[in-house]
Amino acid sequence: MLKIKQFAFGPLGVNTFVVYDSGTLDAIVVDPGMTSQTEYATFDKYISDNGLKVQQIVNTHLHMDHCFGDNYVRDKYGVKVAAHVDDAFLGKTMARQAAQFGLQVTDNRAVSIDVPLSDGDEIPVGQYTFKVIHVPGHSPGGLALYCAEGNIMIAGDTLFRGSIGRADLPGGDMQELLDSVSKKMFTLPDSTDVLPGHGGPTKIGTEKATNPFFN
Ligand SMILES: [Zn+2]
Ligand SMILES: [Zn+2]
Repeated sequence: MLKIKQFAFGPLGVNTFVVYDSGTLDAIVVDPGMTSQTEYATFDKYISDNGLKVQQIVNTHLHMDHCFGDNYVRDKYGVKVAAHVDDAFLGKTMARQAAQFGLQVTDNRAVSIDVPLSDGDEIPVGQYTFKVIHVPGHSPGGLALYCAEGNIMIAGDTLFRGSIGRADLPGGDMQELLDSVSKKMFTLPDSTDVLPGHGGPTKIGTEKATNPFFN
C-alpha cells in the first residue's frame, strides 16, 4: 500500500512527507524541513520504527523551509537530492534566506541538487510511481508530484486549501502560478487528494469549485 506520513517541521510549519510502499518499505522524503536535534530525532525514529529504506530526497522547491533538513537526511541516509534546476539559485542562499526571516536553525548550509528533475519525469516509490509536474510561479523550479494509483498529489506551495502560494518571492510570477494551477493541476481528476506544503489536505475538485483565485 502507498503510505504518506506527514510532519510539520520548523518555525514555518512546513509539511515534510515520508512517502513509502508498505510492501517493499522503499521510501522517499519530500521537503525535509527539520531544523533542530529534536526534529531530527522525531524523523529518524519514524524511519527506524517502520523499517523504511530511504531512497531519495525530493524537493517540491528550494525555499529554505522546505529543505532545511536536506543535508541532514542526505548525510545520515546516504541519499541524493532531487529538485528542479531552476531553483538551484535558492539552494545556494539558505543562510541568507534564514537571516532575512530572522530564523535560528541548526543547519543552514547550502543545498545542492544531485538529481535534476524535469516535467514528465517519474519517481519510483516501491511499486508506485510519482509523476513530476513542473509548476512554476511560486518559484521558477516548483514541482508537484502526482501518483495516479494513489490518487494523490503533493502540491508544494503552489496550491493550498482555499488559497495559492505567494508570487512575490525571488523568481515568482503570479500569472505563471495561476496557469500552473489551472492548466496543469486542475486537469487531474476531481477526486485527487492534494497535500499542500503547509496546512491541511484538500481535493482538486474542491479547489476547482471553491478556491477564491479561480471562482
Ligand atoms: Zn515556498
Ligand atoms: Zn513553504
